[in-house]
Amino acid sequence: MKSKVLFASVAYERYEADCTLPAKFDRLLESTELAEKVKGRHTAVKMHLGRNIGFTTIHPLFIKKLIDKLLAWGAKPYITDQTTDGARYRGYTEDFLGCKVVDTNGVLGKYYYEKYVDFKTFKNVDISGHIHDAEFMIDLSHAKGHGACGFGGACKNIAMGCVTDRTRGQIHALEGGITWDENKCIHCDQCVKSCNHYANEFVDGKYEVNFHHCTYCQHCVKVCPNEALVMDANHYHDFQTGMALCTKTVLDTFDKDSVYYINFLTNITALCDCWGLSTPSLVPDIGIMASSDIVAIERASVDAIKFEDLLPNSTPKGVELGTKGHLFERLHGVEPYTQINELEKAGLGSQEYAFEDIS
Ligand code: SF4
Ligand code: SF4
Repeated sequence: MKSKVLFASVAYERYEADCTLPAKFDRLLESTELAEKVKGRHTAVKMHLGRNIGFTTIHPLFIKKLIDKLLAWGAKPYITDQTTDGARYRGYTEDFLGCKVVDTNGVLGKYYYEKYVDFKTFKNVDISGHIHDAEFMIDLSHAKGHGACGFGGACKNIAMGCVTDRTRGQIHALEGGITWDENKCIHCDQCVKSCNHYANEFVDGKYEVNFHHCTYCQHCVKVCPNEALVMDANHYHDFQTGMALCTKTVLDTFDKDSVYYINFLTNITALCDCWGLSTPSLVPDIGIMASSDIVAIERASVDAIKFEDLLPNSTPKGVELGTKGHLFERLHGVEPYTQINELEKAGLGSQEYAFEDIS
C-alpha cells in the first residue's frame, strides 16, 4: 500500500485569503491525525531557525499557526533547534509563537544521550536531550539544496539537527569527497583561487578541504590543469548512509507513531539554512507536504523539485550545472536519492507514495 502524503499547493484560484497557503496549512493540519496523537504530550517541534542574515527559513506565521493548533489540541509544545542564537531576528520569539524556543542540547550544550553505531569512522550518535525526552516530535523542515547530500529535508533536519557537534562532525567526516594526488600536483594554486567558499587550502604543502563549507561545486576539480583533484562519489554515499543511520537511531527512541513530518517546499534555495544567507529560489514555490512516513515525504519532495523549473539568477554567476540527473545533482554533484534509498533500507518507510490534495 502506498504511503499517504498530504499536499497543500501554492496554486490558487482567487484573490482570497482562504485560497492562499496559510489557510491551506490550517486545513492540512486539520486533515492529519495529530489532534489525537499529541494530546497531553510534550511535543518537540524540530525546525531550522536559520543563522545570521538568512531570511528564507519557514515564515513565523506558519509556526504560530502550528503552535496554536497544538495548544488547542492539548499538546505541550516547544520549538527546538541546535542553536537558538539569532532566531528572534527572523521573528521566532516566545512572545509571538506562544511556546518555549530552546536549544536541543540545552543552554550549555551538555544535555544529550549517547548511543552507539558502527559505520566506518561514525561511532557516536549523541541524541539531543530535548529530542530524546520529548513524547512526540514534529519534524518541521524547510526543503532546500545541500552541498553534501544534494537535498536537505526531513532526514537532514534530524541527522544534523537532533545531535551534538561531535556526531555532526563524525557524519561530515564520512564525506571526504575530493581526493588529491600529490604526485600530479604542480602547486599552481588555481584550485584555491577558484573556490568561492574558502573551503580549500594548502597546509604544509598538503591540499585540505573543509567539507562543512565545501558545496561540491567542483570548481577546484575543473580548473586543475593536471587532474590532481578527483571527485569520489563513494564518499557521498557514505555521508548519506551515515545520515540515514543517525536518523534511524534518533527515531528509534520514539514510540511508534510518535513522529510526524512536515516539509515546506517554499523558498527552495541552493544551500542549507546553516549558511546564514538567502539566495533566490531555485524553482517556483511548490507548497507544503505532510506525512507519517519520512521516506515517502522525502521522495515526494525531491520528485517535486525539477530541473525544468529552474529559475534565472538562482545559482551563482558562472556556475555550470551538470548535464544529467536531478537538479540537485546537477548543482551540487551529489545524487539526492541516495539518502532516501538508505532510509528505506533502514526500514523507516516506503518510497511508494500517494498524494492527498487538501487544497
Ligand atoms: S568543490 Fe567547490 S567549494 Fe569545494 S573545495 Fe572545490 S571549489 Fe571549493
Ligand atoms: S589546481 Fe591542481 S595542480 Fe594546481 S595546486 Fe590545485 S591541485 Fe595542484
